[in-house]
This record gives sequence, structure tokens and C-alpha cells, in this order.
Amino acid sequence: MPELPEVETVARDLRPHLVGATIAGARCSWARTLRTHAPDAFAAALAGRAIEGVGRRAKLVVVELSGGVALTIHLKMTGGLFVVPADAAQDPYVRLVLELADGRELRFRDIRKFGRVGLYPRDAATGELVTEPGGAAVFAGHGPEPLEEAFTLQAFRGRLRSRTGRLKPLLLDQAFIAGVGNIYADEALWAARLHPLRSAATLRRPDERRLHEAIRSILAEAVERRGSSIDDYTAPDGDGQMQERLNVYQRTGEPCPRCGRPIRRVVIGARATHFCSWCQRLSAADRTAARRILATMTGGTPRPTDRTKRAAATRRAAARAAMTGPAAAGMATAPGTAAPAGIAR
Ligand SMILES: [Zn+2]
Repeated sequence: MPELPEVETVARDLRPHLVGATIAGARCSWARTLRTHAPDAFAAALAGRAIEGVGRRAKLVVVELSGGVALTIHLKMTGGLFVVPADAAQDPYVRLVLELADGRELRFRDIRKFGRVGLYPRDAATGELVTEPGGAAVFAGHGPEPLEEAFTLQAFRGRLRSRTGRLKPLLLDQAFIAGVGNIYADEALWAARLHPLRSAATLRRPDERRLHEAIRSILAEAVERRGSSIDDYTAPDGDGQMQERLNVYQRTGEPCPRCGRPIRRVVIGARATHFCSWCQRLSAADRTAARRILATMTGGTPRPTDRTKRAAATRRAAARAAMTGPAAAGMATAPGTAAPAGIAR
């Protein structure tokens, strides 16, 4: 599932293509894609609104519209966003289309249908997106943005103080920090030399410092490299490169880049977790408490599927071809330009 760097890349790619455009209407072929409205009401609520901004909060794309409302788009497992001319061929996996007044369309393609789109008002007083006027904040359950300046070491320490669980599930908890998922949790813990099953309550001050630094530096690098194109993730202007820089994620059995011993894999809360059992040590007490989880550990040999998942671009290529035809490399075509904008970058 796309995490902070991937969703940030999607938002940045979409921004120049969408800001300034006006929405003329909407077509929805899978009603459950819409979190807040029935398809007809959704189309009526959007018609005539201008797109004023495209940003991100946590793992959601946020599209700011005129009239004090915004769309939230959660890509989930297989969601992708593409800006194409209205006459471009449309494949059956497109669940939602925003028709733009200039003859283009923003299409939400989602093979597995887990993606969700909501339309919410912005509270005039607080500036927060709310479920309804005077209602609860849409992002109330989300923790701080790890790349924002306010996410200081001191703030991180303050949030850790009340926590007693294990580090891997804690980093995945969106209420603790927003935007971190399986890929960057594993990478941050490896960089900080902290075992994913270590209990947060046992962290010493240097451990906290290394983890804070690792989370921020890895996410920042991943944003710079346009995210990790693993499984179905691709962005409007093309794949990311961060998958080549990952040290442990989906590298089970390959040598640890730091010590050369094989990367291990355990399943923690149904999530595959990758780490080096030499560089990321666990205390005897934590080891005893986690012995059932550690019994799932593998890593003597590489998992062939890991490499395939990391490298295979078949489904992403299919997504692009479905949108633009096999000859086109770029997805987003700006009005009045002959070549797809993705090529001209
Ligand atoms: Zn190692």
C-alpha cells in the first residue's frame, strides 16, 4: 500500500495538471468507492467547483476545491490516479471519473476496489476538514506528520512516553505517527538498529534519537526518489526509484548491507517484517515475551517472491497501457500540448 512518500509523489505529480481546472461532473461505476455520497449527489456536489490545490495528509491525497470543501482520496492497495483526455480509452477498473471542463478527466483506477474517496467541508474557524459542518475532524485519529518541522525529537519523545507496545506495530499505528507503513517502518528500524519486537518502554535516549532521525531521513529520501514502486504503486508521472535503495524490506535471505548476515523475516500482526537479527538485537526479556512470533522467523534463503514483487512492473505497465495506449509513456496530458507531460519532464 502506498505510504507517505508514494502518496506525496502522487499529489506532487497531479498538482500542476489539476490546479486551476474546473470540475464539470463525475461518473462513478462502483458506488462503494465513495465514502460520503451516493454517486448522483457526489456529481452534483462537485459540478462547477474549481481545483485550488492538491496536497497530502497521512496516506491520503487531499484535493482542495472552491467553496471550502476538499476531496480525500485513499489509494489503498491498488488505487491509481491519472489525468487523461476525455476521449482516451477507459478500462473496466476505472471506478470514478472527475470530468474537467477543459476536456480532460481525472480517473481513479482501482483493481481491488479498496480505495475510497470522500468529500468534506472545511471548518471555517479551525481550517480542519470535518465530517459535516460543526462535526468531527476527518483526520482526528491521525498523529503528526513526521516530515513537518513540529515533529521534533522532543515531540517524538513525548509521544513515546505513554507507549508500551512493540516498535513495529507502534510505527504502523497511524494515531502515533501519520504516513508510515510496512516498508518504511522496517527500513527505519534497521537504520536505527532497533529490533521490530522491542518494547517501546525499554528505549533509551540514544535509541529514541536514532529512531527519530531514521524515520525522518528515510521518508525524506523516499519522497526525493518518488517512493518505492512495489506491487501496484505507480504515480501519474511514472514509477519511483526508492525500491532500489531499501536495505531490508522484501530482502529476506539476502545479506544485510551492514554486517553481511542474512536478512530475517517474521510475521508481526499479520504483517511481514524484515530485519537483521545481528544488527537489531533483542533483550532476553523481549525475546521470551515474543517467542511465539520469533518461531515464525525465516531467512536462511532468499524468498523468490520478494524479488519478483520488488522488481515486477507488469501490472503497473498494464495500468499505463490501459490509460494511454501502449505507445504512450506519460499519463498526464496538459491541454494545448502535443506530447504527454510525463515525457517532457
Ligand atoms: Zn546486519
